[in-house]
Amino acid sequence: MNSRYPQNWTDIAYSLKEKAKWRCQKCGVQCIKPGDKTAHLSKSERAKITMVVHHRNYQPEDNREENLVCVCKPCHLSYHTRKRGNISIGQLSLPI
Ligand SMILES: [Zn+2]
Ligand SMILES: [Zn+2]
Repeated sequence: MNSRYPQNWTDIAYSLKEKAKWRCQKCGVQCIKPGDKTAHLSKSERAKITMVVHHRNYQPEDNREENLVCVCKPCHLSYHTRKRGNISIGQLSLPI
C-alpha cells in the first residue's frame, strides 16, 4: 500500500465516483459501477471502463475536491504518459 494515501481514500474515491455518476469526466464513457454485471466483458474491456480518481497535480496527499477528477483507465493513462513519458500500465493499478 502507498502510505501517501489517507486511510479513508477508498471512501473519498467512491463518493467522487458516485457524484460523477460513474462517467469519465474527460471522455464521458460510462464506467463500471459496483453491482454492474461485467461477466460478459473480457478483462481488457473491463479495464477500459474502470473508473479511477486522478490527482490533477499528481500529489496523492492533496485530496481537495478541485484536485481530483474521475476518469476511465485509458484517460487516466493518457494523463500519466503525458506527465512522465514512459510509465507502464502495471504501475497504474494504484488509484492515483
Ligand atoms: Zn475517459
Ligand atoms: Zn492519476
